[in-house]
Amino acid sequence: MPSSINFTPGPSQLYFTVPDHVREAFKTGIPSLSHRSKAFQGIYQFAADGLRELLQLPDDYGIYFTGSANEIWERIGQSLVSKQSFHLINGAFSQRFEEIVRETGKQTESVVLNAGSSISEVPTISDETDLIALTQNETSTGVSLPLEQIAQIRSRYPDKLIAVDAVSSLPYINLDYSKIDTAFFSIQKGFGLPAGLGVWLANKKCIERTKKNQALGNKTGTYHSLLTLDTFAAKFQTPETPNVLAIYLLGKVIEDFNRRGIKTIRNETLYKSTLLYQCLSTHSLVNPFVKAKAWQSQTVIVAECAEGLERLVSYLQGAGIDPGEGYGAAKKTQLRFANFPAHSKEQFEWLVDKINLYH
Ligand SMILES: *Cc1c(COP(=O)(O)O)cnc(C)c1O
Repeated sequence: MPSSINFTPGPSQLYFTVPDHVREAFKTGIPSLSHRSKAFQGIYQFAADGLRELLQLPDDYGIYFTGSANEIWERIGQSLVSKQSFHLINGAFSQRFEEIVRETGKQTESVVLNAGSSISEVPTISDETDLIALTQNETSTGVSLPLEQIAQIRSRYPDKLIAVDAVSSLPYINLDYSKIDTAFFSIQKGFGLPAGLGVWLANKKCIERTKKNQALGNKTGTYHSLLTLDTFAAKFQTPETPNVLAIYLLGKVIEDFNRRGIKTIRNETLYKSTLLYQCLSTHSLVNPFVKAKAWQSQTVIVAECAEGLERLVSYLQGAGIDPGEGYGAAKKTQLRFANFPAHSKEQFEWLVDKINLYH
């Protein structure tokens, strides 16, 4: 048991069952298992089936493993964008998504929002755009895009693909997968695992788009394109030698999540975030950075401190609490608190008690 609680959004605190699963994995030889063995296929299928159940993922979605979420940004640019993508930019991660798509040689357009805000109206998107990229939870600023907005964007632009970066909000958010075409996460945030694996969910429309792109002469990827991933996934394999240990651990943690129940996980997340936002919104020194309730992330809560951070951080660390630093330039004025399934109610109650006593 680590001596302090890690509230950094990523890599975040490990889910409490991870050390046991790691020990079991080494005992049974998982780390040196051939990725062409039957046993590996079983591990892939176990993780994918568990995830499908946890997220209530429709049958027309495939589940693919990559190196990271950064890789998925790039593969989306290569496989899914024919000509131009649209990006709703509300912080550093959504901005990087756009840059990477541009680096794949595609055009992009964007709406850039003020830090700490999201949208309350559907943005205008041009006809040339064939994919809309949305960062549902902007980890750098603690802003979340309301799910109703995603549904409205879909009904206004039914013919464009919609890609959702849900790296720091899954499994908490209850995405309507019929209103989007692809979503993705990496495992060191809400799944409480060591970094080193990206998980890409994509529907049949995405497969068709990739085929169309290939026919147009576009390069849809290298060792990973959505088509190679899909071909191998049909036999529960990956094109390359993957991070077998991480896929095994993911399956095990998902099994633990399913045993606990996604409803319970979601209710507890909301309980914990409500506790912290209530504390911050009435505190004399430490306040929420995102003011509008509708845009406040439930999974990454960003706080700002009027008098500066130094005294607050050493006070929290003295109480066994490791807050996440603010992102980039906000390091000096903000702290981030991850609220993932790995963070218990007791840990949040402890955090809130300590902040309440700070003056
Ligand atoms: C952390 C994060 C990423 C990048 O994840 P990697 O696993 O480092 O590639 C992308 N998007 C969001 C919203 C994130 O929080």
